[in-house]
Amino acid sequence: MNLPDTETLRTMAEAALRACGARDEHPSVDGTLLARTPITGGVLCRLTPSTPAQVADSIADAHDGFLQWRTVPAPQRGALVRRLGELLTEHKSDLATLVTLEAGKITSEALGEVQEMIDICEFAVGLSRQLYGRTMASERPGHRLMETWHPLGVVAVISAFNFPVAVWSWNTAVALVCGDTVVWKPSELTPLTAIACDALLRRAAEDVGAPTGVHRLVLGAGAVGEQLVDDPRVALVSATGSVRMGREVGPRVAQRFGRCLLELGGNNAAVVTPSADLDLAVRGIVFSAAGTAGQRCTSLRRLIVHSSIADETVERVTAAYRQLRVGNPLEADTLVGPLIRERSWEAMTSALDKARADGGTLVCGGERVESEGGHYVSPALVRMPAQTSVVREETFAPILYVLTYEALDEAIAQHNDVPQGLSSAIFTTDQREAERFLAADGSDCGIANVNIGTSGAEIGGAFGGEKETGGGRESGSDTWKVYMRRATNTVNYSDQLPLAQGVKFG
Ligand code: NAD
Repeated sequence: MNLPDTETLRTMAEAALRACGARDEHPSVDGTLLARTPITGGVLCRLTPSTPAQVADSIADAHDGFLQWRTVPAPQRGALVRRLGELLTEHKSDLATLVTLEAGKITSEALGEVQEMIDICEFAVGLSRQLYGRTMASERPGHRLMETWHPLGVVAVISAFNFPVAVWSWNTAVALVCGDTVVWKPSELTPLTAIACDALLRRAAEDVGAPTGVHRLVLGAGAVGEQLVDDPRVALVSATGSVRMGREVGPRVAQRFGRCLLELGGNNAAVVTPSADLDLAVRGIVFSAAGTAGQRCTSLRRLIVHSSIADETVERVTAAYRQLRVGNPLEADTLVGPLIRERSWEAMTSALDKARADGGTLVCGGERVESEGGHYVSPALVRMPAQTSVVREETFAPILYVLTYEALDEAIAQHNDVPQGLSSAIFTTDQREAERFLAADGSDCGIANVNIGTSGAEIGGAFGGEKETGGGRESGSDTWKVYMRRATNTVNYSDQLPLAQGVKFG
């Protein structure tokens, strides 16, 4: 495999950062936070993690910023997000380059991730004029009952490496129009994309005259996140990452009665029924399972196929897998880029060993693709005799386990019999089967699709999942309510004081 050298990639990263207006204050020769590229495994730059005092200052700035920002009318707050959207559009390719360099996404997916940021900005600008409260009928004469939505406070956004910019934008664009300010702690694996986004938002704030404290970036690993989690000035902690991280964050935020939005791991499945359009199904399966090298929270990890079409489905997916080009994500014909790091490759081989020990058969893939650096693998397809413990875990690598079923009820039971509940799909042309899958006793996930794969959500819907996925919802629909506080107001415009429920007092 032909890979560029790290020096070339470093030059590309520097050019993209410069174009986005990132200041030179972050790189440092003796910094302990290493911005690496999974393309070669080399170091792009050394950064200095934020100190506890700097994190505290950032929270204080964001809190001061909030005290001003919350009084700016929401449509004017929308102007900041509109400007951000313009700058993201202008710098789409710079940001996509950084996403590819740091997260290893192929160019098309990296551009798609930046497009998602632009889309959510457009959505949030519209939302800035639609933060509606209801008016309810009061039971008392001469009274009005209504609800008002107010800004909540400082939002801490803790994000994962695999969506280094989209997750931030889902939270930030919506939080800003809601009148909140944001402190962002990106993944320690993708600090450069964060520095570029922060620079663009800073410029947008200057352009529209927003307070400087609307956004603060802090860099570092879990300990920096913990400081945000524990600070009572942070009203909402929106944390995206592994279930392990969520188990640490959730109880700590609950301890201080803060608000928490958790977007954690998935173990997503697709059911393929005998009536499925297999041409379409195979395309959907391959994109969801092998795309982003299996490193999406919504990646397809389990295929539950009717026994009558299992062999044909496996053959066709295998044939498609053999066509997938694994390699340098910057090259136009590459479809599968590198794993983020060595640990992911170790997790993948360990899961494949366990699957084999449980009676599974490796049909194709699961091999390391030779390269001078980085961790490149061919996506693995494994037939399993049953949903054993390894199948019930999320392994953050491209492994697709194939299981079979006889009756749809059995497929749905198997589908739901995992601890996670993020995304799901059914491939069928039978409306009864489709509706059954979407019904209350069907898929138990936050996302349930028909005739498309489990990954690749649009921003218009609410994104998130149930059970160990954490229950949070981000992005479109009415998720904005999580970023605001609701006040119920009763206004008495009469000269009487009737008590509710007919209570008499005096
Ligand atoms: P991770 O849990 O290792 O890290 C995620 C973030 O949490 C990082 O910024 C990390 O520094 C921070 N963190 C870790 N421990 C912390 C602690 N104790 N307190 C505060 N912050 C802490 O996850 P990752 O490897 O970067 O990402 C992959 C995981 O994220 C997968 O499980 C994937 O399914 C999940 N994910 C979920 C969604 C979703 O929307 N549901 C989206 C993307 C990724």
